[in-house]
Parts: sequence; structure tokens; C-alpha cells
Amino acid sequence: MSTHLLFKNIDEAGLATLDVYVQRGGYENLKKALAMPPEGVVEELLQSNVRGRGGAGFQMGKKLSFLPKGAMDKYVVCNADESEPGTFKDRELMQKNPHLLIEGILIAGYAAQATKSFIFIRGEYAEQAEILEAAVAEAKAAGFVGENILGSGHTQDLWVHRGAGAYICGEETGLLDSLEGRRGNPRLKPPFPANQGLYQGPTLINNVETLATAPVIIDMGGAEYAKLGTETSTGTKLVSVSGNVKNPGNFEIELGMKSRDIIEGLAGGTPDGTKIKFWFPGGSSSPVLLPEDLDLAYDFDTMAKAGSMLGSGAIIVVDDTNSVVDVALKLAKFYKHESCGKCSPCREGTNWTVKMLQRIEEGLATPMDLDILASVQEQIIGNCLCVLGDAMAMPLGSMVAKFREEFEEHIEGARARNPYPEEAAA
Ligand code: SF4
Repeated sequence: MSTHLLFKNIDEAGLATLDVYVQRGGYENLKKALAMPPEGVVEELLQSNVRGRGGAGFQMGKKLSFLPKGAMDKYVVCNADESEPGTFKDRELMQKNPHLLIEGILIAGYAAQATKSFIFIRGEYAEQAEILEAAVAEAKAAGFVGENILGSGHTQDLWVHRGAGAYICGEETGLLDSLEGRRGNPRLKPPFPANQGLYQGPTLINNVETLATAPVIIDMGGAEYAKLGTETSTGTKLVSVSGNVKNPGNFEIELGMKSRDIIEGLAGGTPDGTKIKFWFPGGSSSPVLLPEDLDLAYDFDTMAKAGSMLGSGAIIVVDDTNSVVDVALKLAKFYKHESCGKCSPCREGTNWTVKMLQRIEEGLATPMDLDILASVQEQIIGNCLCVLGDAMAMPLGSMVAKFREEFEEHIEGARARNPYPEEAAA
């Protein structure tokens, strides 16, 4: 079912301004939170069972509860580096309702007793960064951000920081390095950001959608929010649907909705005369699913049980007019380009994967190369410093496993077109 909590009033003119946002009840939930003890706010978030909307799906309330107590510099960092291919829901939220995100950051900051907060927004989102900067300035002028917020004794500042356009800065520790002014390289974990994050201080780092959900949870109450969705995937989720569908876009759904109802219902299904070949349920880093998986519930656990993941909630639909080899090569090139090069399995593995797929394209490969291609993916998975290596290897491995016949036909076809591959390669 389509339920609007985050997207309530989303298309109303002027919602991005403080005036309209306040007229629609904006910042009332911040007031409500500030009237509670910080632990009470953490408790509401824990009860809501809300899981991170950025990809990993870790419970927000738990993450918050891991932050050490006591007086020290603590930080809230909003990950607005939405760079997973197929994902564009945070962009719409920030563009049309920036104050909801700001209110969420303030509520989370109060719960964490953090005094400094940052929105790290990807460089390509210049328009959204300007909108956020204007909204932060309005919120500061109105006393929602800054010293002694609304006389509560809680002080919290907020800055918008623009990234420089690297996929790896969406990885939380790479993002922290970049925010500190260094090259965005992932850090070894542990320590986790909750203990040693920004400037070595305890840091709550969450995605845009996750933080924007905090006002909704405070409004409804954690227990009431938890009644939405399924037992382990509570609430609503913004889903970006793209690829070969008639009506691409962002949709807010209640978790547990049938995948078919999202793809064929909300997004209108594939163009007339074509059929779904496969689909990525959680961005380009999720293992692909098949048409027979369309009746699965769209939630964290069902997607995991099906061998994939809900990830960032970005469904990419590929119809039967596309070649799986083409899709695999495009994907591998992207991850090769974005690999930071810090660890060998990812740096070398993404490079070799591109080379092998190019061999397939050029008629230089044999079916045995497919076994090597699959084995390279297996050796990447679980052996990298951060998730980028797996982000390529998991979908790639799933494509080779599920479409092996098509890969073999492609190899045969390319070899037939190019009967003297050694001469072509020389
Ligand atoms: Fe860098 Fe890739 Fe290793 Fe991540 S997995 S640290 S992106 S080389």
C-alpha cells in the first residue's frame, strides 16, 4: 500500500520554505522531543525499530544507543552522498522538504546530545545544496538551530558540506575522511563511528531518509510507527524505480508490499511488447532477481532470503531488449572507476572483471573464462576493506550464475563474428 509519511504534502508549492513547513506542523516534533529527556527520544526510536534507509539496514535507535554518554564533543553527520546508481529518493526529499531533514537531524542530535552536525551532500546535487543552505539559514534565524534551541538548553549547530563527487564518499568512513578534508578513503572498522568518528569523536551517521523519519516517529510514537510494515522491516520506505518502466520515479510504500505491485503497479511495468528480464531490488550493488521473484514482499528480510538485498531501496528494471553482458560490463566499469584502490581484491578484482567482460564482448573469451569470472567475484566478496568490492562482485556473480547460457551464447556469437581473435588482439 502506498502510505505518505515522508512524502506527505511533498508536491505542495513552497513546502521548502520555513513558513509553509511551519504552517503544516513543522518543528512541532522538535519541540515535543526537546520536552522529553534525551533517553526518552532514543527509546522512541528504539521502539520504532526503524532500520537505516541508506543500504546497510542497521537499526537507527541501536546505533544511537551505542554512542557513549557524558559530556564530550559528539557529532551527527547526515549522509546525503546519494551515489548508488538507481537511487534518487533523497534528492527529491531534500529538494522539496529540506526542513523535514533538518528537523530530523536536530531530533537525532538532541537524542545523542551532539552539539555539531553536518549534511555531507554529493557535489552533483548543487541545486539541492543551495536549497538546504537556504533552509538551514532560515532555521537558524528562527532559533531552531544554534545556541539554546527554543530555550531547551540544547545547543546544536548545522552546516551543509558539499562533496566532490566520488561514490566512495557514500561509505560512512570515507565520507568522514572527506569531511575532515582528506581524500575520501574508507577506514578500518572497528573502531566504529559511534565511538570514534568525525575528529575521533562519537558520531551518529545516518542517511537522509533515515534522519527525516525521526520527526515522523516522534509524532506517531515509536510503538505506533512499528505497526507499519512488517515485524522486522517497520514503517514506510521511499523507493526509486528506474530502468525499463513506463512510469519511473520515487514512491513511498509500506514495507512488505508485493514487489510486483511496485514495479508493475506504481511504476507501470515495462514498455509495451517487452518483458522483465531481471531486476535489481536495492540499487546496482544488489544481486539481481528474476521475474518469478516479483511476488516476493519488498522488505529487508524477504529480499535477503531471496539472495539479494533491499539496499537503498532503488529498483532498477531491465527488460528483455537488453543484453546481460552489456549490463554487466557497464556495471563493472562503474565500480572499477570508483574503486579507491586501497585494497587489492577490489582494486585488482574490478580491473580484471572489466578486462574479462571486454574479452567476452570482443570474441576473445571461451566458456572457461566464465568460470574464472565467477571465481574472481567469489574471491572479492568478503575480502575487501569496505563494501565497494562486494557491491560489484555480488550483482556480477548473480548475473553469471543466472544467465550463464546467455553469456555462453554471447561468447559463441562474438567468436563467430571474430574468428581470428589472437590476430585481432595483437
Ligand atoms: Fe577502496 Fe575498494 Fe577497498 Fe573499498 S573495497 S577500500 S573502495 S579498494
